[in-house]
Amino acid sequence: MKLLKKNIGKAAAVIIAAGIFSGCGRVRNELIFESYSGGFIAMDTYIFATVYGEDAEPAVGAVKEEIMRLEGLFSVTDENSEVFAVNRYGDAEVSFETAELVRLALEMGDMTEGSLDITVYPVVREWGFTAGEYKIPDSGTLSALLRNVDYSRVGAEEGRITLPDGAMIDLGAAAKGYAGDRAIEILKEKGVKSGLINLGGNIQALGGKPDGTDWSVGVQDPFGDGYFCVLNVCDKAVVTSGNYERYFERDGIRYWHIIDPASGQPARSGIASATVIGDSGAFCDALSTAIFVMGRDRAEKLWRESGEFEMILVLENGEVVVSEGAGEMMRDAEGVEVIAR
Ligand code: AMP
Ligand code: MG
Repeated sequence: MKLLKKNIGKAAAVIIAAGIFSGCGRVRNELIFESYSGGFIAMDTYIFATVYGEDAEPAVGAVKEEIMRLEGLFSVTDENSEVFAVNRYGDAEVSFETAELVRLALEMGDMTEGSLDITVYPVVREWGFTAGEYKIPDSGTLSALLRNVDYSRVGAEEGRITLPDGAMIDLGAAAKGYAGDRAIEILKEKGVKSGLINLGGNIQALGGKPDGTDWSVGVQDPFGDGYFCVLNVCDKAVVTSGNYERYFERDGIRYWHIIDPASGQPARSGIASATVIGDSGAFCDALSTAIFVMGRDRAEKLWRESGEFEMILVLENGEVVVSEGAGEMMRDAEGVEVIAR
């Protein structure tokens, strides 16, 4: 896969150095670094990175290589992937990365009372979301498939993933977030201090902008084009799951790709989009999918108990509910309901 855009924004400018600070929320006066922006297609989405620093271009190249490698491990449709082998044989040795992501997903299954369930895959496939050939499954087929949906029966020990008969897994709910975390690690290894990666709507920020101010990250309006709010972000992942991302319509009813493992139906919790903000992309990605299934009340309870994330919920009735910390990141929080701890 080739980088689609090369050298956009490659620029070197100079500001007189007066003192160098690093980290979030601090003004930095220093030489403005070279920057490099590049995009490529991977994980079924367009990935775009803007990176500052002398080695920005090779760093973006290394990020691309790593994301392609991870896609080769996690893809549910690629016959050479590890996930494909797990699903075909029900028992397979896997890499550190696949084992780590499966373990995280299983933990998040516990944390969300099964709202995140990687074994929901056969149901997702039956609805046609894997191949893009959409259909409404009949209830008999769904109940037969649901009998094999239970993440707690997946084994993940010593580099092996084992599945009970009839079960299959899909890491699609958290793979982009995991890839984003690896991308940030790679940038750090390359000495990069400032960068922003957009993995098809999953945003991951390394540091702030080179001038020390925060990145501006827009949150998609689930009811139309464009953003409905802008967040000030530094060193965080911002991940949204929404009913507008992948769906089809029949007789005026919309059916989307996030499935409630309890019913086998597209989750109708009253949430149109759930945005989760936190330190880890994989965690936020898994959680945004789960919160979409859980709905407002359960999400609010989890937020109070956890302390590890912030969230923005856009409800289907148009109301916006944000956690305290997310409210503080919003440029304009007028008209939104802020929930306090
Ligand atoms: P995301 O776009 O991150 O919210 O993830 C949605 C993807 O995760 C879907 O395309 C399915 O492949 C998969 N998925 C759907 N529902 C669930 C669920 N309840 N638990 C785990 N994975 C799911
Ligand atoms: Mg997700």
